[in-house]
Amino acid sequence: MTGSHRESGDTSGPHDGTRCVHAGLPEPVPGQPFLPGPVFAAPYHLDPWAGPAATPNGYGRPDNPTRRLLEAAIGELEGGDCRVFASGQAAITGLLLALLKPGDTVLLPSDGYFPVRAFATETLAGIGVRVLFAPTAGPYPDLAGVRLVLLETPANPGLDVVDVPALVDRAHAAGALVAVDNTTATPLGQRPLDLGADLVVASGTKALTGHSDLLLGYVATRTPALLEPVTSWRTLTGAVPGAFDAWLAHRSLATLDLRLARQTANAEALAVLLAGRPDVTGVRWPGLPDDPAHRIASAQMRRLPGVLSFDLGDPERVARFVVAARLVSAATSFGGLHTTADRRAQWGDDTAPGFVRLSCGVEDTVDLVADVTAALDAAR
Ligand SMILES: *Cc1c(COP(=O)(O)O)cnc(C)c1O
Repeated sequence: MTGSHRESGDTSGPHDGTRCVHAGLPEPVPGQPFLPGPVFAAPYHLDPWAGPAATPNGYGRPDNPTRRLLEAAIGELEGGDCRVFASGQAAITGLLLALLKPGDTVLLPSDGYFPVRAFATETLAGIGVRVLFAPTAGPYPDLAGVRLVLLETPANPGLDVVDVPALVDRAHAAGALVAVDNTTATPLGQRPLDLGADLVVASGTKALTGHSDLLLGYVATRTPALLEPVTSWRTLTGAVPGAFDAWLAHRSLATLDLRLARQTANAEALAVLLAGRPDVTGVRWPGLPDDPAHRIASAQMRRLPGVLSFDLGDPERVARFVVAARLVSAATSFGGLHTTADRRAQWGDDTAPGFVRLSCGVEDTVDLVADVTAALDAAR
């Protein structure tokens, strides 16, 4: 599999671009916009006789129509029922706190998103949840007695992947639930619920919305008994996104297919360039045929991410590279329109000092390849 996604020869529609453009939109009404504008409300007018029973909108924390349209859109793309949160971290911590109780055991990726690991060791362990870690690429421990397995694939920032259907089989046989962090892949890159996962959780801050202008998270599932405690947790803690962010996110979803297509093409070109240079080590991108993640990623992913990683040896060389590049900005996060490089160790992550996560934007591929080549030459 290369950068082009798998559906291209598939005649059963609708395809990704079509699904993104139409996701969550209401039926057309003459005189109304395609995507209704954000509804800003804390309380709504109530029916004086019937009260909140007469309307889906009573108070802004549980109820907002702009948020519900976004949830319908993401739910369509993931193939489940969705609840959005104020950030990815709010969604993940909400999922963990809604489903785990003292005495339970949770298995987390040892190479996954760093704040999730910090939350587990600082907060979950403190309330009596037993926390186990396993590397995304394995080996995984015996899952007997585990209540929830959270997988992150491809893992951020190392880009290892795990065989989701195989892990789901093992977890379900042991009576454990499986949640997959789908941030790096997005629902166009893989559909964890189709792969057998019980829940999908993600940050919508990254490629899903892709304009580097908002924070968002979500949980999706096909199991009402799992959605209910997550929804209740969100209402009780108030970890909801505002109406304007929800509207911006929905507006951005329409171009997800287009953005990912260019980002993946750019990642493929840069991965080939970087892997061919003797002065760059540790290049990781699951689309490279000799990448350790290639076989499983090809089997379970519908398209590959626009993120890759590599090592330039030391922090000074990373800084020289970013200064010399005109099209690569120093910034964290990933999945945005602009190409960015992040030296993860500066955030206290446990990566090597010269390790760089590069997020490919939607610039033209020839320009990006020329710029990165020149910047690497200048930074040598
Ligand atoms: C960024 C990220 C998160 C957290 O999302 P925020 O929106 O920043 O709170 C969780 N998981 C992964 C894999 C991420 O990359």
